[in-house]
Amino acid sequence: MSPDLRSPITAPAAATLQRRLLAWYDAHRRDLPWRRTRDPYPVWLSEVMLQQTQVATARPYYDAFLVRFPTLAALARAKPAEVLDAWAGLGYYRRARHLHEAAQTVMREHAGRVPDDPEAFGRLPGVGRYTRGAVLSICFDRPLPVLDGNVARVLARLFAVPAAIRDPRGARRLWALADVLVPMRRPGDWNQAVMELGATLCTPRAPACGRCPLRKSCRALAMGRVEEFPPAAQRRATETVCRAVALIARGGRVLMARREGPLLTGLWEPPGVELTGHASPVRALRPALARLGLKARLAPAGRTVRHTITHRAITVEVWRGTLTGAAPRRAGLRWVDPARPGVPLTALARRLTRAGAE
Ligand code: SF4
Repeated sequence: MSPDLRSPITAPAAATLQRRLLAWYDAHRRDLPWRRTRDPYPVWLSEVMLQQTQVATARPYYDAFLVRFPTLAALARAKPAEVLDAWAGLGYYRRARHLHEAAQTVMREHAGRVPDDPEAFGRLPGVGRYTRGAVLSICFDRPLPVLDGNVARVLARLFAVPAAIRDPRGARRLWALADVLVPMRRPGDWNQAVMELGATLCTPRAPACGRCPLRKSCRALAMGRVEEFPPAAQRRATETVCRAVALIARGGRVLMARREGPLLTGLWEPPGVELTGHASPVRALRPALARLGLKARLAPAGRTVRHTITHRAITVEVWRGTLTGAAPRRAGLRWVDPARPGVPLTALARRLTRAGAE
């Protein structure tokens, strides 16, 4: 078997890998709720949730989401705010918006049946090559590959390919490998088995090669250079952001503003402003509140909250606000009971109101 993709993997070598890994998967796979069904809706939901989210984190959200929207039709009928509310805390909210739009498209254009045709399924909002391969291989036995961080690591090590998934050329090479390896029989189990191997044994640090069913075929192990594959991708720099927010409470409820703009659109949190340069928080907060029609006396709450979302490290200065005029009635403002918000809150809003609305 060659690490060079110009020489294809021989069919017997691929068959050996498939046989060994599938036998291991049958014996060792974790019992996860989305593995107990081949209904495309819950499988699709799990695949979307598990992108950028760990299994342990996603699992309670998955269960609760299905209680709230038990079918694709129920999801399609929901209001966008309800879907975002069910997603609140998982992050990467675009995933939820796309899934919701895709459910509506399936109801409208495919008579409520998830299409098993790769082209039709791949045209749905938010369905990229990974989701298409995962859902169609697991639910419809389509021999389509998947490539995520776990699969990429396993393949890079197995074939000693110096390719990282974040590098476009590396991703092309790894996709080609994944494509060659996916079997005609049990393609969904194969895809899940590779992911499972990456998640449980072929981990980024200190992989458990001694227990790996593919160790006899692993080139990186034979070379004694397991941790050199895949090559470290350049980390995206973390952006440092300062923000001031006004906690304005009344009768156990907190005034929230609906976020607009590129990040966290449609989620709600206490009104605030990003601080630039050396702007004093109160000087920046007043005009931000005025833009929402709010006039308030502001006093420091003596709290600073550090919060991280994706590549932003946010330091939030909390101010207590007391309205000096009536709160205007407008669509983007609402008094919210933190215990029963009724609107999707950002993770920051939940943190602030959990400890800060007292
Ligand atoms: S032998 Fe080690 S490095 Fe190679 S695939 Fe298995 S766990 Fe990963």
